Amino acid sequence: MPPAGIADRSLSGVVRAACVNYVAEIDLLCAGVCPVCAGRVDPELRVCAEHSVPDGGLCSSCGTEPRVSAAATCRNCRFHRVFVPVFAAHDHPVVAGALTDRGYDAAAPGFRELCELLGWPAEPTAEGVVYAVPSPDDDRAVRVDATLSVSEAARTGERVKGRTAGASPPGTAMGRRALAASVPSSDPNISVFCN
Ligand SMILES: [Zn+2]
Ligand SMILES: [Zn+2]
Repeated sequence: MPPAGIADRSLSGVVRAACVNYVAEIDLLCAGVCPVCAGRVDPELRVCAEHSVPDGGLCSSCGTEPRVSAAATCRNCRFHRVFVPVFAAHDHPVVAGALTDRGYDAAAPGFRELCELLGWPAEPTAEGVVYAVPSPDDDRAVRVDATLSVSEAARTGERVKGRTAGASPPGTAMGRRALAASVPSSDPNISVFCN
């Protein structure tokens, strides 16, 4: 948030303004519009192939906690943001409905709402990243694709009700091969990387 966002606000007001500003930026970026200059934005999904997060730490390969991240860069002014893809889905009807059902403010997501979204299971696929959405029957999911568009999706299975029998954890060699085989993809905007 720009420094002026701190002036004349309480501590909780600063947090709220930061969240409003952050979500508005993401909404613009996902619509392909730079929040600074209105220039064209290039979206990207990044999948960490060596992902391993220790308790209380960050992945040593990608430096973040989520395995999949979204990135957007303005072609004109080079404004650049990296964010968790599920934030792009906050106003999708399936997501907004689940947030409302759980007592959150789907219309104006704040810190609590963003933390809730961070807890939803994510699974990278060749078409994007699928998030399991909490629902009474555990049967809803949304996908954020490489253009950062959001659509309803089928659940991938293994992350929802326990792992599929025989599936290898992603941090193992077998898991990495499985990830490399299942994740991309002919889509040039989805990149899998490992250090
Ligand atoms: Zn990683
Ligand atoms: Zn720009």
